[in-house]
Amino acid sequence: MSQRNFDFVIIGGGVVGLAIAREIKLRDKNKTVAVLEKESDLGLHASGRNSGVIHAGFYYSPDSLKAKLTRQGNVLLHEFLTEKNVAIKNVGKVVVTTNESQLNSLEELYQRGLANGVPLEIINEAELGELEPNTKTVNKALWSPSTSVADPKSLVTALKQDLEFLKVEILLSERVIEIENNSVKTEKSRYSYGHLINAAGLYADKIAHKLGFGLQYDMLPFKGLYWYAPKLKNTIHHHIYPVPDPRNPFLGVHLTVTVTGDIKIGPTAIPAFWREDYGSFANFKLPELFQVLADLPRFLVSPHHKAWSLVASEMPKYSRKYLVSQAKKLVPALDEKDFNKKGQIGVRAQLFDKKAKRLEMDFVVEADENSTHVLNAVSPAWTTSLSFAKHVVENYLKI
Ligand SMILES: Cc1cc2nc3c(=O)[nH]c(=O)nc-3n(C[C@H](O)[C@H](O)[C@H](O)COP(=O)(O)OP(=O)(O)OC[C@H]3O[C@@H](n4cnc5c(N)ncnc54)[C@H](O)[C@@H]3O)c2cc1C
Repeated sequence: MSQRNFDFVIIGGGVVGLAIAREIKLRDKNKTVAVLEKESDLGLHASGRNSGVIHAGFYYSPDSLKAKLTRQGNVLLHEFLTEKNVAIKNVGKVVVTTNESQLNSLEELYQRGLANGVPLEIINEAELGELEPNTKTVNKALWSPSTSVADPKSLVTALKQDLEFLKVEILLSERVIEIENNSVKTEKSRYSYGHLINAAGLYADKIAHKLGFGLQYDMLPFKGLYWYAPKLKNTIHHHIYPVPDPRNPFLGVHLTVTVTGDIKIGPTAIPAFWREDYGSFANFKLPELFQVLADLPRFLVSPHHKAWSLVASEMPKYSRKYLVSQAKKLVPALDEKDFNKKGQIGVRAQLFDKKAKRLEMDFVVEADENSTHVLNAVSPAWTTSLSFAKHVVENYLKI
């Protein structure tokens, strides 16, 4: 078995791991960095299976890490993708209400946006009509001009090109199975490290547990399904979102415009029974099913979320008819028959605190001098990949 040594070993070739590798090398080109990825290519999980929405940063409470990193991440990502000639569609986004009782929550989002330094406007029904004629709101809506969209995989490709130039070693088909004495073992090799960075997405909890971190957490995966309406291409020009339920970390069924002008609805937040549950049994693992079955009852009695109503409202979204009926609350003229192309499924690496019976809402990082663990890189961690990398490298790696 071969053995190599690096200053930094990063587990996970998604946007978080890749962006951290880039940031280390930009700050100190003499550091040796390796990214170990279990798959035969980069970005095959959440980083390549998301909506590609470049979020603005108005959802998050001003004291959260998400608030701090999303506005900055939005700006950095626009700059980076533009520099790399990657297409971005500056579509903006409207958040609409479906009843009077949501107006307070809409105002709360507006205030959060202001506190987070996000450009944002409250608009009336007539102004909404000018932006998106077929969209409905009750009285007011929110307009976010700095929300945009890009192809999620294009970011993975652009980061990969930078890493090759910066001489980061990208080691594919290298699944980390053991960690001991400052070295990680894969099926083929052993890599010793000065500092380990765990950016393993859906498996970040498992890696962290091996070093005694994040022991109160398990990953509770939630599946996101999408449906495309090819016939509607270029007929809707902005992302259209509902007001989210503040007790859940998910944003509700929305309509997004892709960078090529396609229209899709989703994603759902249906509990998944194993981590890489993409609709076939290819990556089924029995211990993961047992873990989900042990954690779900704890989640269902959570005092922090309306868990039963979340599950009860999400499960019917397996039905396309029901999913479209939810989207019709935003755009009444939608027709179920038009949404006839299934999108790629993505799974959220949602962290669950078993003791507190709570889904973690913010990003979670745990670290000591030997290792750093990115434990809850949920949405909008694709938007924040570059700002998150700066945060980790400055605060935990001290470079
Ligand atoms: C349905 C959906 C929609 C979303 N929409 C958006 C959006 O519009 N905008 C936004 O900003 N965010 C969005 N997100 C969130 C975003 O996709 C994620 O936050 C982000 O991609 C996380 O990146 P990551 O690098 O942490 O994880 P990942 O992309 O999952 O990367 C982790 C990598 O680690 C590897 N790995 C795991 N275990 C091991 C091991 N033992 N050894 C080696 N490698 C290992 C995996 O194979 C994987 O490639 C969405 C997520 C989902 C699921």
